[in-house]
Amino acid sequence: VKALKTVEEALGHRHRNISKSLSLSYHEPIYMQSAAFQYMYDRYGNTYLDAYNNIPHVGHQHPEVVAAAQRQMARLNTNTRYIYDLLGDYAEKILTKFPASFSKVFFVNSGSAASDLAIRLATNYTQKRQIMVMEHGYHGNTRIGIEISHYKYGHKGGSGQAAHILKAPLSDAYRLAEPDDGTIGQHYAQLATQQLEEADIAAFIAEPIVGCGGQVPLPKDYLKNIYPVVRAKGGVCISDEVQVGFGRLGEYFWGYEMQEVVPDIVVLGKPMGNGHPLAAVVTTEEIAQAFDNGMEFFSSFGGNPVSCAVGMAVLKVIEKERLQENAATVGSYFIDQLTALQGQLVNIGDIRGSGLFLGVEIVKDSTGKEHDTLLASQLKNELKNRKILVSTDGPYDNVIKMKPPLCFNKNNVDQVISEMASILGAAQL
Ligand code: PMP
Repeated sequence: VKALKTVEEALGHRHRNISKSLSLSYHEPIYMQSAAFQYMYDRYGNTYLDAYNNIPHVGHQHPEVVAAAQRQMARLNTNTRYIYDLLGDYAEKILTKFPASFSKVFFVNSGSAASDLAIRLATNYTQKRQIMVMEHGYHGNTRIGIEISHYKYGHKGGSGQAAHILKAPLSDAYRLAEPDDGTIGQHYAQLATQQLEEADIAAFIAEPIVGCGGQVPLPKDYLKNIYPVVRAKGGVCISDEVQVGFGRLGEYFWGYEMQEVVPDIVVLGKPMGNGHPLAAVVTTEEIAQAFDNGMEFFSSFGGNPVSCAVGMAVLKVIEKERLQENAATVGSYFIDQLTALQGQLVNIGDIRGSGLFLGVEIVKDSTGKEHDTLLASQLKNELKNRKILVSTDGPYDNVIKMKPPLCFNKNNVDQVISEMASILGAAQL
């Protein structure tokens, strides 16, 4: 039997050939072995409750998704230059989840490729170049992806904002002097639209809940006020649903529904293939038609039969296991339990999000609301020591992010809450 490597040995091996620009989670990274549903198992026999990973949307290694991939992989895997029914069947199935204005799907292999293509579709259709993005937003790792991601170009290591990019400020409703009377959305929309006055805008791209901004939902009426202005200027509206789509928000299948708008282009990724590299851009007939200008669009792997079989299985499991409903029920229970905890602990600031896409701001105290980056990091690492996986994000890295597989249940919530209570209680002694 081959002896197990220690974490240090495994790290040494990794770093010999892999750049350190690929980060690892936690002070002491986990040497992972396998996973099933909302649980992950390390090489030393420990079980972790996964309250963080949203890519395994219907559960890690869900048997129906695995079987669909295995079956199709053994039969045919080719590309879109041949006819196979799975491509049309899956595109048709995806489109049943959208309003009638959407009629065309482009399949690719990552959220980055999808957001990159979305920008190309927009600039081609409008024949304009300027793009408005959200502060702290993230859309991808390609050159265009970085250009439209303030989280990258505007942060450590970034090279600043390109001349054709406009940035809309992200609301911080939690820190308003007065509680939001329902007008903050309009106020922030106005700040954004002021920038559009002189602009020759091709597109506005936003996530309905800004994940890298620290799980910040766009305020009520925000997109409703911006979309018409963008369109009046000849631009198109893009919703990045990579993080929040496919029923995760509980009440809504897509994040844009929360804002009562319909975009022109939607970017899909992560949960779409439950871990299999599957992503897409969904758009209108008109925008797709303009793109069909003589230059072929081809993706070697995009829309291959195995990916389509996997994507179809994911959608079937979401429906069969009523996972959107589960996200709504368990998510609202999670918020209730976090709110109860907030009543006892001064370090729990804002609790936000929808369904199983939640953020908890860790603050020095709930009166001053000062970000507590160190405590958030301690909490994340101590939860990991107690076998619960969460992450931190936001401009101050003080927001605990929770976005578990949608099979997460109330007992799982109780486990997270009781460990958080114990850790934060102890931290205050
Ligand atoms: N958009 C959003 C909102 C994302 O969170 C991500 C990935 N974190 C992407 C796009 C890019 O997706 P990928 O990593 O699959 O390229």
